[in-house]
Amino acid sequence: MRLIAGAVTDVGRVREGNEDSFVIDERIGLFAVADGMGGHQAGEVASATALESVRALTAAGRSVHDALVAANSAVHEKAGSKPGLRGMGTTVTAVTTGSDGRVTIGHVGDSRAYLLRESHLTQLTDDHSLVEELVREGRLTPEQASVHPQRSIITRALGVDAAVEVDVYPVEPAVGDRILLCSDGLTTMVSPSVIAGILRREPDPTDAAERLIDAANAAGGEDNITAVVIDVVDDGAAPVEPRTTVMAAGGAPEPSIPTDATAARGNSRRPRRRAFRGFGGGARRVLLYLLPALLVIGLAIGVSGWYARNTFYVAFSHDHVTVFRGVPGGLLGWDPTIERRDELTRSDLTAAERADLADGHRFSSRDDAEAFVRRLVAGYEKRTAPTTTATASTAATTTVTATASTIGGASSTSAPPAPPTSKP
Ligand code: MG
Repeated sequence: MRLIAGAVTDVGRVREGNEDSFVIDERIGLFAVADGMGGHQAGEVASATALESVRALTAAGRSVHDALVAANSAVHEKAGSKPGLRGMGTTVTAVTTGSDGRVTIGHVGDSRAYLLRESHLTQLTDDHSLVEELVREGRLTPEQASVHPQRSIITRALGVDAAVEVDVYPVEPAVGDRILLCSDGLTTMVSPSVIAGILRREPDPTDAAERLIDAANAAGGEDNITAVVIDVVDDGAAPVEPRTTVMAAGGAPEPSIPTDATAARGNSRRPRRRAFRGFGGGARRVLLYLLPALLVIGLAIGVSGWYARNTFYVAFSHDHVTVFRGVPGGLLGWDPTIERRDELTRSDLTAAERADLADGHRFSSRDDAEAFVRRLVAGYEKRTAPTTTATASTAATTTVTATASTIGGASSTSAPPAPPTSKP
């Protein structure tokens, strides 16, 4: 098995310059994204310097942990060398594959790694950001964090101090897995469920990266956006040359890492967006793969159609707990349909329940999905019921309200009492 990737970085719709960088080096098995900070081009220097260092150490066979520690020193030393670079720093989230096939993620900051496995998206990395730490401490909900004015403040970065703590995550890759590395310009603009839908729909890694950037720009594009989409493929599949692409911030694509990150900025007439195909080659290769692919696609559409019509999930629709038929984000053109929208709303749920429904909680039958919603309603009733109520009357109330709240959208019933709100 091996990893192939496509990546796109984009300045977004608000910022003047792009301080994000990425590197794809299939030959040494390195894929990374970095989001620099510092202003006046210092952020661009920081992210490019960090990835240059990570790449050199990875090529020398060092672990991703050591590579990020060395990158920290490189950025820190450079920051001390020029007044204009003082205080610069960068996030780095890097995937490396060892010669033993082991995949490891090294991570500092608030860029992210996600794993899409069997259509399910999981965030692999923890953000080193102020709001995420407050969420982990239970002082903010994920919803509050997503709109928090301080959501871009990071609590750990490469290059700011002489030492840095690096998070390391081992990954057991399987063929068919897809890993996404992205800067916060994507995740602050686009929800995980939308990201998951795009990753499921777009088979080509570069196309997927393009669509993710489109989604972030459509939502406002308030920051630089970078997406690196990595597919775990069979060794026999897609026999192409290993590819190396380095995208230093602010520069044009370089065949190799520039020795001085600022040197890359000399090519100032760069396209606004830079994308790199994971697959080289032209029409010949495409045609070769087209026939069996068409057969597989035809079969897949038939099977997925059956699957989509016989699968259910519970998620939010207009903030109401809703039973859907289908697969979150759709499956090969089969879009989910709403079966029933409950009166229970997002704010009636606990943080854990909201997180559970964020990407859709799946069931193999409508009965199971309905039973799950009834449990959510019962949990809500229990939390909001007066503690002095006798057992019998609580049961009666629960039954009545549960019945009322299972009525569809047509009839309006009185809203249940508001849940207690906890201020962070
Ligand atoms: Mg950013």
